[in-house]
Amino acid sequence: MSARRISIVAAAVVLATALVGAPARARLDACGALQPIAASDGSISCTHGPDPAPPGIDASVPRPLASSTPTGDLSTTSASSAAVPCYGDGTSGKRVQALYVRPSDRPDRSAQVVPLIRQWAAETDDVFARSAAAVGAVRHIRFVTTADCALDVQQATISSSSDDTLGATIIALANQGYDRPDRRYLVWMDSTVLCGIANYYLDERAGLDNANNGNGPQPGAVARIDAGCWGLAARGESVEAHELLHTLGGVEPTAPHATPLGHCTDESDRMCYDDGSPGFVAHQTCPLADEALFDCNHDDYFNPSPPPSSYLATHWDTARSDFLAGAAPAPTSSTTVTRVAGTDRIATTVAASRDAFPSSQSAGSAVVANATSFADALTGVPLAAKKGGPLLLTTGDSIDPRVLDELSRVLRPGTTVFLLGGQAALSDAVADAVTGAGFGVVRYGGGDRFATARIIAEDGLGGPGTVLEATGQSFPDALTAGAAAAAAGGAVLLTNGDTQSTETLTYLASHPAARRFALGGPASRADPTAQAVAGDDRYGTARLVAEAFFTAPTVVGIANGLLFPDALSGGANVAARSGPMLLTTPDSPLPNSLVAYLEEQRSVQRAYLYGGDAALSPNVATGVARLTE
Ligand SMILES: [Zn+2]
Repeated sequence: MSARRISIVAAAVVLATALVGAPARARLDACGALQPIAASDGSISCTHGPDPAPPGIDASVPRPLASSTPTGDLSTTSASSAAVPCYGDGTSGKRVQALYVRPSDRPDRSAQVVPLIRQWAAETDDVFARSAAAVGAVRHIRFVTTADCALDVQQATISSSSDDTLGATIIALANQGYDRPDRRYLVWMDSTVLCGIANYYLDERAGLDNANNGNGPQPGAVARIDAGCWGLAARGESVEAHELLHTLGGVEPTAPHATPLGHCTDESDRMCYDDGSPGFVAHQTCPLADEALFDCNHDDYFNPSPPPSSYLATHWDTARSDFLAGAAPAPTSSTTVTRVAGTDRIATTVAASRDAFPSSQSAGSAVVANATSFADALTGVPLAAKKGGPLLLTTGDSIDPRVLDELSRVLRPGTTVFLLGGQAALSDAVADAVTGAGFGVVRYGGGDRFATARIIAEDGLGGPGTVLEATGQSFPDALTAGAAAAAAGGAVLLTNGDTQSTETLTYLASHPAARRFALGGPASRADPTAQAVAGDDRYGTARLVAEAFFTAPTVVGIANGLLFPDALSGGANVAARSGPMLLTTPDSPLPNSLVAYLEEQRSVQRAYLYGGDAALSPNVATGVARLTE
């Protein structure tokens, strides 16, 4: 007896599998009413044997593979579950591996089946996700995924007899390396021996060292679905979900409503049915619709937040499995969305600078503004773009050391740094620190935001003939104006809400031929003779500005339309990429204007999101990713 085997016995762990007709030998007691399977290394697991096909399904007849026809017969799925969630690098940690397995005496149908497996795997995940959502929680399957975030479907050919029993299948797969302890194997077997079957470990202990959790030496369990029972999720009868749940350790026979054969009596439920256990009596305690989901009363095998001292709080709960994720995938894993964020607004401004100018000494200049004064920063966006540098935000009385470090990284010694605002915005101590670091300093500052905007336009931008007016009393319109002005070679000037400011009037008086655009409602009222670009709300205005000033952009910036700090640095970041700035709500649903813009602009290949999860939730990132795919 190997040391491994001893440790398994000591832990009172047994993997259960039901081999039809196989004699139940020495380990029958350890598997309870289940049947033992010996792995090639001597480990013992248990199975209840083949699950029967759902009513109306003949397991001996392969399912048709005409997936694109939504007949309601073969499974179809909503767009929301068309792909599996993608976590991290796709391979690290505990994972569920999808497999297309073919006995050698069967034709290779992988070309047809593998695309369907991707759909069926997503539908399997959907069962877990919706079961968790029923108690307000999040669970997704941690599948093995490829570098581009698609489901990784391995293909294996086994001998013509290796599909005869689950035990033979497990050995055949182990011989090809598919027995890793940190994997569970979801196998689509191109055969019609049975409907579905799985093995698992009888281990009711609550801790994460449960044998079903993949931390020990025990080989990864196998969920096998044969071709007559593939893809029945649309009927609410996903056999894939049933068998995979088994491999995660459910239903333990000690659960309140468990049968001795690994199922339960609480109908309707994905794991509960009359499995032939002696004295089986079903209790119809849940609606029929719960047939599609796990653990309808949340008390037997799957509850992400079981009540204290309940059975699932004190025994193994598959919702605790490390093979499941407790959060939506990180948006940064998307191929189309990049999030630019730091721990505070100054860290975000540094992150935005490093993102736009990743190489040292690669910026032509830099613009520095006060982190709490949005007006200076937003009118400075076209300046930063024209000078080919970042816009960095700092505290006003003394420069933040992180900003000074970033200036030293991104600029060559002796380069000019532009400070925005008067002494009240950025003190002489800030200017002295920049000078002391070896840079030249030019200050564009007036007595107020309106004057600073005019001075930036006149002195910093050379008095351009295109002017974008926006209110200086709130930030959303000016935020979208910054990137647009950069694209148009224009300046941003500020109105005093619905009233024109004297500083802007002064600029317009000395540039009478300037093309004037009034962005948003307040500016268009302040200058009714300008060309108005104003939507029904800030999101709509942002969309119209993007449409007016950008043709077929490949990049867009997106910021929270209700908070300005993160968006401040984002303006210069997206301007450096020649893209527009769009606005969103902090959580889904996304504003209709944003959705419409992204749906129309098929040229967009990447979206930059400015701010952390609190400013822009993962739902926003996910939604934007879908719209830009
Ligand atoms: Zn079962």
